[in-house]
Amino acid sequence: LNVNDYLKSHIRTVPDWPAPGVQFRDITPLLQDPRVFRVLIDAFVHRYMHPALRPDVVAGLDARGFILGSVVAYELGLGFVPIRKKGKLPFTTVEETYELEYGSATVELHTDAVKPGQRVLLIDDLIATGGTMMAGKKLLEKLGATVIEGAAIVDLPELGGSERIQATGLKLFTLVSFE
Ligand code: 5GP
Repeated sequence: LNVNDYLKSHIRTVPDWPAPGVQFRDITPLLQDPRVFRVLIDAFVHRYMHPALRPDVVAGLDARGFILGSVVAYELGLGFVPIRKKGKLPFTTVEETYELEYGSATVELHTDAVKPGQRVLLIDDLIATGGTMMAGKKLLEKLGATVIEGAAIVDLPELGGSERIQATGLKLFTLVSFE
């Protein structure tokens, strides 16, 4: 069993949640087992400790991107910045609104979270339509930072998100994919 299959075998699929017809990919079992959690985090850490890919800072997307991103940042000896759903950050922010299947969502980032020219690794748990990660990239770029790569545990390629993200010029690293 390779690392990717090992991780995939610990993702739980919940049918019809949060709506009928949706197959929700639940990553909580990966976090619950200490050995699996370590394999998961190390897969990211080993990639981004290479000098060519080493970021200056790690940004995580609300909310599962916080769980992964903060641990990866800590292990790399880097700082962590949260990109939050609107209305949660207390200081001045930049914001970005993007379309969902029904309605829209807005994410925010503190204006002093990154500095111009900083190289940022952007982390979330899963890529579906790609809207969340692309909004995060735009926020970081509004502040003059460069997103060196987007990273997630799961890609759902049928929803077209990873293709859409890569079409913006952002490289993407994922560990597991569900067709
Ligand atoms: P997107 O913006 O790419 O359409 O959706 C990705 C975002 O929605 C991520 O922040 C992710 O946490 C959440 N998400 C959507 N579908 C799933 C799913 O099946 N499993 C998990 N764990 N997260 C999902």
